[in-house]
Amino acid sequence: ILFKEIFDQSSIGIALINLKGTILFVNAALATILEHESSHDFIQKPIKFILPEFKERSPFSNDTFFENFEKAKKTGFTTFEFVLKKSDEQWLQAELLINKIVINQNLSLMLSVYDITERKRVEKLKDEFVEMISHELRVPLSTINSSFDLLATNEFNDKNDKKMQIVQTGKRNIDRLNRLISDILESKKISEGLIKMNFSKEEILPIIEEAVQTMNPFASSKNLSLNIITPKEPLPDVYIDKNRIFQVMINLISNAIKYTDEGKIDVSLLSANDGIMVKVSDTGIGIKTEDIPKLFQRFTSVAPQEYRKFGSTGLGLVICKQIIEKHKGKIWVESTPEIGSSFIFHIPIFIEAIRF
Ligand code: ADP
Repeated sequence: ILFKEIFDQSSIGIALINLKGTILFVNAALATILEHESSHDFIQKPIKFILPEFKERSPFSNDTFFENFEKAKKTGFTTFEFVLKKSDEQWLQAELLINKIVINQNLSLMLSVYDITERKRVEKLKDEFVEMISHELRVPLSTINSSFDLLATNEFNDKNDKKMQIVQTGKRNIDRLNRLISDILESKKISEGLIKMNFSKEEILPIIEEAVQTMNPFASSKNLSLNIITPKEPLPDVYIDKNRIFQVMINLISNAIKYTDEGKIDVSLLSANDGIMVKVSDTGIGIKTEDIPKLFQRFTSVAPQEYRKFGSTGLGLVICKQIIEKHKGKIWVESTPEIGSSFIFHIPIFIEAIRF
């Protein structure tokens, strides 16, 4: 009785669901959040009663919900962002948590629902603001860039001239700012699905070879050897966006070079788990274990100051992750400080129809 009171007065929406997906119980908060008069409306209804029915493809398909539902049954716990149905036209943005629980020796699942509409609204505002500022900066920046180009060519001819050095420092910083702005706009576009991926059946090796060739001069300038290691057996073709995978390779290889002072960089290819695994290993400064989770966050650098002079934006890995996830793949890091790092990604071989 006491626990029922707690459930009923909790401000977190809670539903109890049996393993078949029938709703057994809904607390008052969930009824209110989903704009129903009474929690009785939900009892004995299938869980689909509160799930969206989007016609077009959506990350919020019933399949996604049931994948999480099954995962909770297996592992005991899962949490994810989703939308729930209030009425035929209205949806609730929510953070869901599904827990496996035992009541009177029966296994059930408890669904907790947090309303995140406000958080999403603020995130959207923040993103729009960043995007607006980035766009607005582009025009004056390109004017400044042209002025500096002019100064560099016409006004100062002597390379040793102090003024020339100032102009060149200015140019470098303009380039850096330009890169930062493109990265911000690009990572936003990818995350919103605004950049269309062009998937086609491709051989991966030529793409990797081209990326290695492109980066070779940079590696040589630091006396690092840059090698490709391929398996003996042929690699399967993959459905990928060729240009985007090239971009990921350039990012990973240029990081490997940036953060390595001596030794080598190996790019290895493997066929693994119904897919392809690509590994970029360096003998560089490495990354502390506690810093690894920060790497794929926007604008973060965990490298010592002296390594940041090459014009870091802290967005390269964010973009890599977004691209790999668009391929339904995974990217991760293995690293030991002062020994080196390996950035590894795996992309599954999917049939063409699954990509969208
Ligand atoms: P950045 O533009 O700063 O290189 P990234 O998103 O590409 O941005 O990388 C984020 C941070 O991850 C880097 O600033 C650096 O601290 C760390 N990092 C990335 N690659 C490596 C590497 N190969 N070795 C050591 N640290 C790395």
